[in-house]
Amino acid sequence: MYECPVCAQDPMSHSLKQVHPGVFYTKPAEATKYWDKDGIIEHYDGVLGAHEGAWKWIFDAEGFSAKHMFEVDVTIGIARLITQKYSMNLQEIQIVNPSWVVTMTLHIVRPFLSKRVLDLIHVQQVLKETLI
Ligand SMILES: [Zn+2]
Repeated sequence: MYECPVCAQDPMSHSLKQVHPGVFYTKPAEATKYWDKDGIIEHYDGVLGAHEGAWKWIFDAEGFSAKHMFEVDVTIGIARLITQKYSMNLQEIQIVNPSWVVTMTLHIVRPFLSKRVLDLIHVQQVLKETLI
């Protein structure tokens, strides 16, 4: 079991946790250190590295705002890490509570995601229609 040293001090720092076996949940709006690229990458690498087998990622975009979008290095870093190291057993990325900021962020990180990872992204349908 991995324990992030930063989150050991403040559990809300990075926001990636396993909520069910093989189901990981992140809500950037709850992460107090959403700008901490190195710490976040280390946290993701540690948490995902401790897991074996299939996994699914729920990305809760409630409260995801421009200040998160502007931390584009963080998003690209996560996209690279998952694509290069953890996409083999990844089964789905579910984006819930999306907004236009999420749509823009997806456009920005698209070049850093493999086709396989892109195909796994599902944006919550009900709200997706309100984006168009
Ligand atoms: Zn952490």
